Amino acid sequence: MSDRTSRQQPSDLDAFWLKEAERLDWMTKPSKAGNWSWAEDDLRIAWFEDGVLNASVQCLDRHVAAHPDRTAIIWEGDSPDVSERITYREAFEEVCRMANVLKARGVRKGDRVILYMPMVPEAAYAMLACARIGAVHSVVFGGFSPEALASRIEDCGATAIITADGGRRGGKTIPLKANVDKALEKASGIRLVLMVQVTDEKVAFEDGRDLWWHEARDDVTPDCPPEPMKAEDPLFILYTSGSTGKPKGVVHTTGGYMTYAAYTHEKVFRVEPEREVYWCTADVGWITGHSYIVYGPLANGCTTLMFEGVPSYPDAGRMWAVVEKHEVAVLYTAPTAVRALMRESDELVTKHDRSSLRLLGSVGEPINPEAWRWYHEVPGEGRCDIVDTWWQTETGGIMITPLPGDPMDKPAAATKPLPGIVPAILDADGKPIEGPGEGGLVITQSWPGQARTVWGDHERFVQTYFSTYKGAYFTGDGARRDEDGDYWITGRLDDVLNVSGHRMGTAEIESALITHKAAAEAAVVGYPHDVKGQGVHCYVILKEGYEPSDELALELKKTVREEIGPVATPDRVQLAPGLPKTRSGKIMRRILRKIAEGHPDQLGDTSTLAEPEIVDKLIEGAKGFK
Ligand code: ATP
Ligand code: MG
Repeated sequence: MSDRTSRQQPSDLDAFWLKEAERLDWMTKPSKAGNWSWAEDDLRIAWFEDGVLNASVQCLDRHVAAHPDRTAIIWEGDSPDVSERITYREAFEEVCRMANVLKARGVRKGDRVILYMPMVPEAAYAMLACARIGAVHSVVFGGFSPEALASRIEDCGATAIITADGGRRGGKTIPLKANVDKALEKASGIRLVLMVQVTDEKVAFEDGRDLWWHEARDDVTPDCPPEPMKAEDPLFILYTSGSTGKPKGVVHTTGGYMTYAAYTHEKVFRVEPEREVYWCTADVGWITGHSYIVYGPLANGCTTLMFEGVPSYPDAGRMWAVVEKHEVAVLYTAPTAVRALMRESDELVTKHDRSSLRLLGSVGEPINPEAWRWYHEVPGEGRCDIVDTWWQTETGGIMITPLPGDPMDKPAAATKPLPGIVPAILDADGKPIEGPGEGGLVITQSWPGQARTVWGDHERFVQTYFSTYKGAYFTGDGARRDEDGDYWITGRLDDVLNVSGHRMGTAEIESALITHKAAAEAAVVGYPHDVKGQGVHCYVILKEGYEPSDELALELKKTVREEIGPVATPDRVQLAPGLPKTRSGKIMRRILRKIAEGHPDQLGDTSTLAEPEIVDKLIEGAKGFK
């Protein structure tokens, strides 16, 4: 067992990162590492500037040379009866073909290509095909509406879209091509719609613009020379989840991002590429899908599992059925999935053989200690380590996390930064807090995976991340450091409450609430309170079999009082039918805050909301409070 506190930080960061860059196959090796300034009036970030490479070569060519028959992708269909194994050679050839099709239809280096795809292998091929010819991909989650798609097409000025006739999810069909057609009534500039046949959905076909992949692929060769890219050429644009406002088109470049994705994937998951199966359950529409389904694991020559469906179909045991079927060693998922599965009977987990599992990961939101314990003890049989990885779309990869082999004695702590990452906690005046304390989480030194800008709006990039604290990257999240120097993420800083002069993270109160046996999920926000400054408003979702009642609300208040202390006692407990979440499953507390404040007319950007209907029910339910 390694000792968490002794995690080594390099003394020379540039030398460290230059060494890490050697894990890639460069066409021209870089001679220097970072070249960056975080001054507000001169903000620029570059890594490995004089290096030349191609991202798809990292993920394909070198593995085709070394182990062509190793499985690159295990694809598990929405239906439990369907799965497929794709070798590195097969993936290489499909990617080259798709690259050739794009080229033949005039897509060039630097052009933006939107991917609006279900979770099929072609989604990964499409990303890598764009990378191969130097086109910049922007993946839009397949669950987004035509409006959301149109605004992203316009924002990044895309000229091509890769999509499918439809997508399968949980036994239902999503009309992807029909959505594209609707989006294109609003957005202009698209000259090519390349369509993968997935569902046999009847679709409209516009001659000259639309193209079937299965027809086009037969007209091209399975070989396409990789475009030499400068390290700082953009690899992709990805829009953030929109938890805090209008989504930002985050830009990642080639050399730094690839180095960081490969480095973190190896360091955190320690997959043995020749024998272990690695599964990240994210959608390719999120950064987690980019770095940890496609770029990281394939750069490292691993076998990455791609799942078309949802964890609840055909039943809530599906995740464990997939683990058993493909002998998954590493499972990386989100707290929202863990909490949903925890509501169901444990038997759905235990009836499946999970002896292949070695490591469990979590990402996306704070995981409550209660959910952490269940994840560790039930699916993980108490023997699998948990890595609760803190990072963001903007960081490109994992930043602060426990590592396998660390003592598992701090459920839900982010613990320590990875070597090369230098965080700090700042107080309200922007002064660093040394030793134990709580405040705003910043990173003080650039790292290769850092986003370079917001597409088309560098000023927004500067304002959002570099204006709150001079000379530091502001994450927007709060953190606490304990006596051992371990970090705990307390949630988004604008979610921190100030009750009678006491600062409290909403995550802490939420975790206290779900220690109650009836509570499945909770979200806590503040609202203006005459006496205390801020009052504590809790939205609580009950587990199956519990009915809302005043007694239960009172018991939940008592639970928080006992777990944290009288100052945290909720003023209001609203027993709610559901919570507003982003499409990636994160709770949108800013919407809950507006409802609690009595301003349901000021909800702001709700375009990334998964179930808009829930909002009206919550507004209705909040009317009972004064
Ligand atoms: P937007 O920036 O548009 O509001 P978002 O912040 O939800 O959306 P992402 O980049 O997908 O978009 O999410 C990053 C955020 O998710 C982090 O800033 C943090 O608040 C939260 N997060 C991610 N992983 C963890 C974790 N392991 N523990 C706690 N919080 C996490
Ligand atoms: Mg964010």
